[in-house]
Amino acid sequence: MSEPGLSGWLAQGAARVGATDARRLLAHAAGVEPSRLTLLDADDITEAFAERYDASLTRREVGEPVSHILGYRDFFEDRFAVTADVLDPRPETEELVRAALSAPFATLLDLGTGSGAIGLSLLKARPAATGVLTDMSEAALQVARQNAEALGVSARATFKLADWFHGLEGRFDLIVSNPPYIAADEMAGLQRELGFEPRMALTDEGDGLSAYRVICAEADAFLQPAGRLLVEIGHMQGPQVAQMMRDAGLDEVQVLCDLDERDRVVSARKPA
Ligand code: GLN
Repeated sequence: MSEPGLSGWLAQGAARVGATDARRLLAHAAGVEPSRLTLLDADDITEAFAERYDASLTRREVGEPVSHILGYRDFFEDRFAVTADVLDPRPETEELVRAALSAPFATLLDLGTGSGAIGLSLLKARPAATGVLTDMSEAALQVARQNAEALGVSARATFKLADWFHGLEGRFDLIVSNPPYIAADEMAGLQRELGFEPRMALTDEGDGLSAYRVICAEADAFLQPAGRLLVEIGHMQGPQVAQMMRDAGLDEVQVLCDLDERDRVVSARKPA
C-alpha cells in the first residue's frame, strides 16, 4: 500500500477511535509492531486485513480495551497476555514494581496476581528469587501461568488458588498486591472500558478498603523479620491504608506517588 493509502486507513480509524488506538489496531491487523507501520507496502494490505481492521475498530468503539483486542499489554519490561479474565495491567502499577525493586528480596508473595504483571516482573528482574502468586480466579491463574512461561520464570513461580492469605504457608521477604479498591457505589460512574474487566478485580463490593483490612492485618504472620509489604491504592486511600499498616505494627510506612503525582503505593516494613 502506498503512503497515502496508509494514512487513509489511519485517518479513517482515527475518526472512529482516536489516533493512538487506530495506530495500534492498524498495526495489529497488519501483523506488525506500531513502530514498523510506515514500512508496510501494498502487498501487506489484503482484504483480510481490511476486515480485521474494521472488526477491531468496531470492538474498540463499543469500549472494549485495546489490550483485549490485541491480546496483550506491554507492562514494565515485558509483554503480558491479557484476557477478559484478568485486570488489564496499568502503567501506574509499574510504580509498585519499581518501589519493590528498591530493596533486595529472595522470596515474594503476590496476592491477587491476575495476569501476573507485578509478581512475574519482579521474578524476572531478580533471577535468584522465587515467588508464590495467588488469585481467587482459576481462569486468571491460567493467564498468569502462560505469562510465567513466556517470561521464562515458571520454574521459580508457584501458583495458588486462594482468597488472600487463606491456606497459604511460609514467610516472605516481600508481599505485593494490587487488590480491588474501587468502592461498590463508584462502579456505576466509571469508564465503560472497565465493564470489560473482571468485576472482582476492580471492586470489593464494599467501601474499597476491605482487601487492605485483611492484607494489613495478616501480613505480619507471612512476613520475614524486616520483610516489606507494598500495595497499590486508589489515589484517595493513602492515609487510611497507611494507618492500617501502622496499626498492624509495621514500620517505615510510606505513601508513594505515581508519575501523575497521585498517591499510588503504600509501603511498609516489618520490624527486624
Ligand atoms: N487501577 C484500576 C482503575 O482504577 C483499579 C484496579 C484495582 O481496583 N486494583 O482503573
